[in-house]
Amino acid sequence: MEIVYSQTTESDLTIPFRNILNIAGADLTDPHLEETPKRLAKMYLEIFSKKIPVRYTLFPNPSDGKETHSQMILLENISFTSWCSHHLLPFVGIANIAYIPKGYLVGLSKIPYCVDYHANNPQVQERLTEDIGNELWEKISPQGLIVHLVSQHDCVSCRGVRKQNVAMQTCKIWGNIDKNEFFNSLGRKHD
Ligand SMILES: [Zn+2]
Repeated sequence: MEIVYSQTTESDLTIPFRNILNIAGADLTDPHLEETPKRLAKMYLEIFSKKIPVRYTLFPNPSDGKETHSQMILLENISFTSWCSHHLLPFVGIANIAYIPKGYLVGLSKIPYCVDYHANNPQVQERLTEDIGNELWEKISPQGLIVHLVSQHDCVSCRGVRKQNVAMQTCKIWGNIDKNEFFNSLGRKHD
C-alpha cells in the first residue's frame, strides 16, 4: 500500500487530535496517551492516502485455440476492512465474487487486490459494491459477474443504536450470470 503525505501534514493533523483529547480531559502525560495524537494523525493519513491501482493479469480464453472455460468461477470469503464515510469507523466483512469468463480469465489474486484497492478508503458499502464490480466488468469483460458483500459496521455496533452482529449485505449483478447458482455455491462443501 502506497502512503503519500508530508511530515508537515502529519504534525498539523496532530494538533486537532491533541485538542480533542484535552477537551475530553485526557492526561496527555500518560505514556499510553502522549503519542496518541501522532498515531491518530498517521492513521487518518493512511486511510486517506492514494493507493496503487491493480495491474491485471489476463489469460486468453480459449488459450491456444483448444481450451475454453465457460463455468462460473467463484472466489469466496475475500476479507476486507473499509472505513464508513459517514463516521470514519471501520466496517469489516467479506466479499464473494463470481464471474463467467468470455474472452479472458483473470489472475486469481487480482480480484482480492481489487477489493482491497476500493475498500482502503472512506467508503459506503453500496458504492464499494459498485466500484469493485464496475472495475472487474471493465477489465475482464466477462459474460457475467456478481459482487456480494457482507459486513458489520462499527458505526452500528459501537455508537448510536449499538447493535452487535448486524450483517449488511449488498449484491449486484453485471451481464448474464445465475444468481441462484451463485448463492447455492456459497459455503458448499466439496467432499
Ligand atoms: Zn457509519
